[in-house]
Amino acid sequence: MSPTTLEYRFTDVEIENEAERLLAKLMHVECDSRHSWNLDTCRSIAPLTLEINALKKAKDAVILAHSYVEPEIIYGVADFSGDSYMLSMNAKEAKADRIVFSGVVFMAETAKILSPQAEVIVPDRRSGCSLADSLTGEQLRELKAAYPDAAVVCYINSTAEVKAECDVCVTSSNVYKIVAALPQKQILFVPDRLMADNIRVEMKKLGIDKEIVSSDGTCIVHDQFDPNLISESREKFPGLKVVSHPECTMDITSESDYVGSTGGMMQYVKKTEAPYFMMLTECGLVERIEVESPEKRFISGCKLCPFMKMNSLEKIRDALLEPKPDQIIELEESLRLKALRSIDRMFEMAE
Ligand code: SF4
Repeated sequence: MSPTTLEYRFTDVEIENEAERLLAKLMHVECDSRHSWNLDTCRSIAPLTLEINALKKAKDAVILAHSYVEPEIIYGVADFSGDSYMLSMNAKEAKADRIVFSGVVFMAETAKILSPQAEVIVPDRRSGCSLADSLTGEQLRELKAAYPDAAVVCYINSTAEVKAECDVCVTSSNVYKIVAALPQKQILFVPDRLMADNIRVEMKKLGIDKEIVSSDGTCIVHDQFDPNLISESREKFPGLKVVSHPECTMDITSESDYVGSTGGMMQYVKKTEAPYFMMLTECGLVERIEVESPEKRFISGCKLCPFMKMNSLEKIRDALLEPKPDQIIELEESLRLKALRSIDRMFEMAE
């Protein structure tokens, strides 16, 4: 037996088997220059992934992991991984006593809105989001007063307080469908100014007459890409396909071959034949595709979200062992019910 972790002891054989399980996945991660995944590095994290997986059973917990968190979380301990929409569905269906949300705080709040009976835990309370933190409920109430006839639509990257003020919530996978279906001509879309620009263009392409007004938030990852990188890379790598997220600027999305949600981008790359892809999004998504479609080749271009990278195996283990009060998501019931209305309306309109 090896003395390995705080609560559990695992045999050398268990650790070796776990290291091999991890390596079979992580060996394909190439874009991650922060780690070099080999049998030794997998052996070094195996006791921790074994302990977390044992703790999940003991505490009746599930781990939801956003595609942007570190690959050892996604492939080592997560029960579900995906984009905001997929994870909201998983949170809604979760029957566990505890949900550990490895992502950022607004996502854990969304899980709490959908699964009030569960104890929802965030590994690091500081894992905010530049978009969600750009607008308060009070600021949105002022905007609503300025646009009284508008349908109020919030991107899922918003706080529970903001969701509670909205008519409908959207994700990047259903935003165009829902905005197009709303009866109001004027749409107050918050908090992403760049996604609002992309909605305006998409509605025009679809021949749908909408007036889109927005607040001034941006994602600090997706608003950083340089359009010159696209033209230079296309010259160097003929046949390159450029894939981007609607949180990017119009300079980027208008030059991309595909623009879509995290889930949409994964599907596009998996089903498209091309010699190279460049993903203008968070690097975690590239790492996921590298693992799931190792035959695809990527040109570097992605960026890291500092908030998503606050998640770690150690913090997940500690939160499962004994969460600190600030790691547990608490929402006032009246606020939760108001926020739930906007999310339920999204599920109805998206299906
Ligand atoms: S990638 Fe952007 S939108 Fe996503 S959590 Fe990070 S800052 Fe927020």
